[in-house]
Amino acid sequence: MNSETVRYEVIHRPRVTRRIHLEIDPRGGLRVVAPKRMSRRTIHRALQARAVYVARFLEQARSRQQDLKVLTWSSGEEHFFMGVKLRLAVDEQPGQRSSVRVDDGQLHVEVPDLAPGRVSRLLARWYRQQAQQQFSGRLEHYSSLACWTGDKTPPMRLRRMKRTWGSCSSRGVITLNPHLVKAPAECMDYVIAHEICHLKEHNHGRAFYVLQEQLYPAWREAKALLRNQGHLYLHC
Ligand SMILES: [Zn+2]
Repeated sequence: MNSETVRYEVIHRPRVTRRIHLEIDPRGGLRVVAPKRMSRRTIHRALQARAVYVARFLEQARSRQQDLKVLTWSSGEEHFFMGVKLRLAVDEQPGQRSSVRVDDGQLHVEVPDLAPGRVSRLLARWYRQQAQQQFSGRLEHYSSLACWTGDKTPPMRLRRMKRTWGSCSSRGVITLNPHLVKAPAECMDYVIAHEICHLKEHNHGRAFYVLQEQLYPAWREAKALLRNQGHLYLHC
């Protein structure tokens, strides 16, 4: 087994109340987020006791970081749509209107010119339209299966988020991350069913899991898939 001395930086966040959790900084260093009053010594001991876990976390987080190259939005680059990896093909067609289409494993983009940001903006808009379409159908479907919605489809909003796939407000509005449309269908199903369960149960207590199990029994697999692949879909 390799031994490595791991340096880390401690960050105290007021909202972290009970446990420490690990993050990786942009340079691949370990960041330990700890409750406000936890002492350095307690933190250090906790890390030592979980040395194997810490090492595994770092290895996985660093390899994920390497997956994420800076996007150039040019031909040949890989982009995801509904779990499928597509190759971007950018065509400059002066005088034509912009368009996007998926065809034969490619994401074809036509633009009148290659002004900076043109392709990325066009694709962001396209993903958003696709998300609207995909999510609203699913939201309707799973709401109709859930007996607590009274057969009503809850209102939906789209918002690009860095870490969150979805949320449900206390007023029953479901917010979904349009990046989720890059993930496989089962991940969309899982997140949407999960948020519909929050219409009835606002926290993750036992009652919540009973509902989730009913509404989307394969939630564990989808959740694991998102945990492993999610960084690829959030990247843009
Ligand atoms: Zn939840």
